[in-house]
Amino acid sequence: KVLRVAIMGLGSYGTRVADAMQACKRAKLVGAISGTPAKLKDWQSKYNIPAKNCYNYENFDQIKNNRDIDAVYVITPNALHRDQVIRVAKAGKHAICEKPMAINAKEGQEMVDACRQANVKLLVGYRLHFEPNTLEIIRMRKAGELGKVMFFQGLSGFKIGDPKQWRLNKELAGGGAMMDIGIYSINGARYMVGEEPVWVTAQETKTDPVKFKEGVDETIQFQLGFPGGAVASCLSTYTMNNLDRFFLNGEKGFAELFPATGYGPIKGRTHKGELTGPHTTHQTVQMDEMAAIIFDNKQPVVPVDGAEGLKDLKIIDAIFQAVKTGRKVELKG
Ligand code: NAD
Repeated sequence: KVLRVAIMGLGSYGTRVADAMQACKRAKLVGAISGTPAKLKDWQSKYNIPAKNCYNYENFDQIKNNRDIDAVYVITPNALHRDQVIRVAKAGKHAICEKPMAINAKEGQEMVDACRQANVKLLVGYRLHFEPNTLEIIRMRKAGELGKVMFFQGLSGFKIGDPKQWRLNKELAGGGAMMDIGIYSINGARYMVGEEPVWVTAQETKTDPVKFKEGVDETIQFQLGFPGGAVASCLSTYTMNNLDRFFLNGEKGFAELFPATGYGPIKGRTHKGELTGPHTTHQTVQMDEMAAIIFDNKQPVVPVDGAEGLKDLKIIDAIFQAVKTGRKVELKG
């Protein structure tokens, strides 16, 4: 069975997903939701989308009556995800949502609850959870090849441009670098170490308070403590390039990914040598796998469901709290 998907938000990442979906075997782009009629016209001809499967932000609840769409993939600014996903759930369609799933754990929980109530699946666009070199490190760690894991380092950042973009507007982004790019180090720490953190400490620095206004974080360093004794040390920033690196250290070996989260190729090595997994188009694999998760109840090695999205949001909440109070924040299960 093929997963028939409508994309909501026809921006840069929405377009990347649409292009990647052209190579999918089990997922098909069949619909589009946008506030810009010209974009909908363009997508109709570019991706062969029928006009009857196109909606805008006012009328997309009517998707409820469209039997030709199974799921809606929400790829809009972060602060819009919650309401949009809840409307998708109420229309009886499966929801796929971009990261961050929402702008805080409270909203994330509301999305999880709405999808459960509507009996639809909620999945988050964690494309690295299907990436071969990432999965090879996880396999090695589980097989004990790294020994007891003691340390993770995650570096996530880039130098952001245009000060007027939504990513620097708290109302739409819900924060700054942490929501956008720091989340890769949070999520990566969890799947590389293979445990859930029990405490968080964090420190913020701001060099440009004009560009990075109140509530929009520029640079945050944070540390996570894991129940097995491992610690993670991470950096999230909007002011430096060349930061996309994961390093995992165990008593018997190490693993490094650099780049760790870009669109590819993901490269790296371990104490045993170079990682040689195939280079994939992440979004193509992700959407095929999501079809199997939705229709066959397939369990991915690393989850991509709403509960997984919520775990990252709880850590983001704790990081912001740690920055504000200067104190260690304990995380409860
Ligand atoms: P973008 O600015 O390129 O696109 C956002 C789209 O949302 C635009 O088409 C815009 O018109 C539309 N939109 C709808 N309502 C809007 C409103 N009220 N204000 C502003 N825009 C509105 O952004 P993007 O890079 O495509 O990011 C979209 C989402 O995808 C974000 O949540 C981002 O974190 C996520 N993303 C994920 C990845 C990944 O690798 N998984 C990569 C990039 C972006």
